[in-house]
Amino acid sequence: MGFFYSLCFLLLCLNSIGHAENGVILKEDPTGFPLEIGATFLEDVEGKLTIDDILLKNNRLESWRLVNDSSVNFGFSQSAFWIKQNISNHNPNNRNWIIAMHYSLVDWVDVYYVKDQSIIQAYHTGDMLPFQKRPIVNRDFLFPLTLEHNNSITLYVRIQSAGSVKAPLRVWEVRDHQRYSETLISLQAAFVGALLVMALYNGFLFLSIRDSSYAYYIGFILCELLVISQYNGFNYQYLWSNSPGLNTVSLPFFMSALVLFGCNFLNSFLKLKATAPLHNKIATGVSIVAILSLVASLIVEYRIIITIVIGIITFAIIYAFYVSACLWQQGHRIARFVTIAWGSLLASGLLLLLSVAGVIQGSVLIDSAVPICAILEVSLLSIALGDRINQEKNAKMFVQQALTETQRQANSTLERSVLERTKELEIANQKLTLINTLDPLTGLKNRRFFSDHLVQEYKRAHRSEEPIAVFMIDIDHFKNVNDTYGHQAGDECIIAVAKAIVSIVKRPSDAIARYGGEEFSIILPNTPFGGAASVAESIRAAVEGLNVTFDEKDILLTVSIGIHSAVPSTHADGEDAIAFADKALYQAKEAGRNRVVCSNVS
Ligand code: GH3
Ligand code: MG
Ligand code: MG
Repeated sequence: MGFFYSLCFLLLCLNSIGHAENGVILKEDPTGFPLEIGATFLEDVEGKLTIDDILLKNNRLESWRLVNDSSVNFGFSQSAFWIKQNISNHNPNNRNWIIAMHYSLVDWVDVYYVKDQSIIQAYHTGDMLPFQKRPIVNRDFLFPLTLEHNNSITLYVRIQSAGSVKAPLRVWEVRDHQRYSETLISLQAAFVGALLVMALYNGFLFLSIRDSSYAYYIGFILCELLVISQYNGFNYQYLWSNSPGLNTVSLPFFMSALVLFGCNFLNSFLKLKATAPLHNKIATGVSIVAILSLVASLIVEYRIIITIVIGIITFAIIYAFYVSACLWQQGHRIARFVTIAWGSLLASGLLLLLSVAGVIQGSVLIDSAVPICAILEVSLLSIALGDRINQEKNAKMFVQQALTETQRQANSTLERSVLERTKELEIANQKLTLINTLDPLTGLKNRRFFSDHLVQEYKRAHRSEEPIAVFMIDIDHFKNVNDTYGHQAGDECIIAVAKAIVSIVKRPSDAIARYGGEEFSIILPNTPFGGAASVAESIRAAVEGLNVTFDEKDILLTVSIGIHSAVPSTHADGEDAIAFADKALYQAKEAGRNRVVCSNVS
């Protein structure tokens, strides 16, 4: 809040204009009086006049001219200028005043207080002299004035400078000036702090991202800070107060460096090489010119180099604004912040340059506008840099998402083809298993299937306590058939017997298998001896009734069948049943073949 009141006070100071017909009259006014109004000036083209010459020629009034503007500003000139103003003190409460020159880039400043044609006080200063030699140590040129009530003096100020020659003069009460100074220092400190934080922040970004744009930008911020502080006289006060030589070269030096960093930043940040090759070439050209002027600022006379550098920087700012505006118009999202930032820099830079060049009257308001615009511009560029990180992150995320999606699709395709493959394999496996369990000649199940199936059916019959019947069937005298008619005829007979068996054994739970060469076996679940014997008899009769013809010869066939049926006991397994059935079959063969014999074990 205190800062706000101070700012209001500062603005009040700037608006107060007090003057009198015959010089400045000091009254009970809390703010500083501008000394320019009613002042007269004398141009000394050769710069050789002394105060004594001036006091002698004082009567030749035609040499003195009235200051027309509200501030004394002669632009670039090699002449020395004398300014004369009468000051009277009509304030009974104050005798101590400060005369302030609110522009610190003047080479030589001589101040004389004259009363009745004699010098009562003289001060010699300027930025060509060490800072500590100033009458009051301050960024501005300040001169103490002690003036008793109802007394008056004539003030003579001689200024000469290689740069812009101007002397915004004010007379202040000591306390008011102190408050004014403190406010300005607070503003400046806030400005320096803001820019340093920006530089630091971008420094960290540079360390983690390693993008040269950030390095150029840090150089740009620091140069901008140094240029504005130089203009306000703070560099001389705090950085190199004992080196007037360094102070003289630093303004064109930092301005050139500002252009150099600015062009490189623009080139790198907006990727001009890819987006606008012509602008890239121009920006590189301007950078080279900036390097030359950087070197020249160390050797060429200030008056010449400052004019050149002002030209370069004016062109660079307008050009940079134009380039970023063009890219913005072409749809480069990133260029929009840059354009607004350069616009702000353009405004502040032009104000500053016009003020340095003496085209417009420098005032503290203009001087404060420059840092505020600079903070705005630096903040906007930082937002632009942040925005770029954001854009690159989004692009990366987009690529990542696309990759993930491709991967997901590839995975699901792979999954699908694995599933299809597995299915195919399962079907192939099933086919293979089926083939493995089939007898190729008859299409019946084979012995391997029969053995496995018998074990399962036996367990089931044991659990449900149901009788299970097992048949062993053998074709009688089959060797003779083979020997008489050949193997091919024998195979035909085997197929015919298989069909005869299939036509009799029809329950879905029944299983018929070709057990060996001309032997068949059958499992009949839930079938007692009686039922089994009946089925066996049907088979026997069916085979007997077969009429197999081979090579126009009839072949007669019969079978012997051994059967066994029992409710399986705890330890019994299928092998026992086969053994019993086999034994019964043997008995059938013994008994004369073509018959059914039941196992006598149950
Ligand atoms: P029986 O059973 O009445 O005692 O006399 P058998 O002549 O049938 O005797 P055995 O069981 O010793 O002979 C089986 C014969 O069956 C041997 C072989 O010539 C014939 N045989 C076995 N498997 C096949 C086959 O797959 N095809 C053909 N054509 N003949 C086979
Ligand atoms: Mg046999
Ligand atoms: Mg046989």
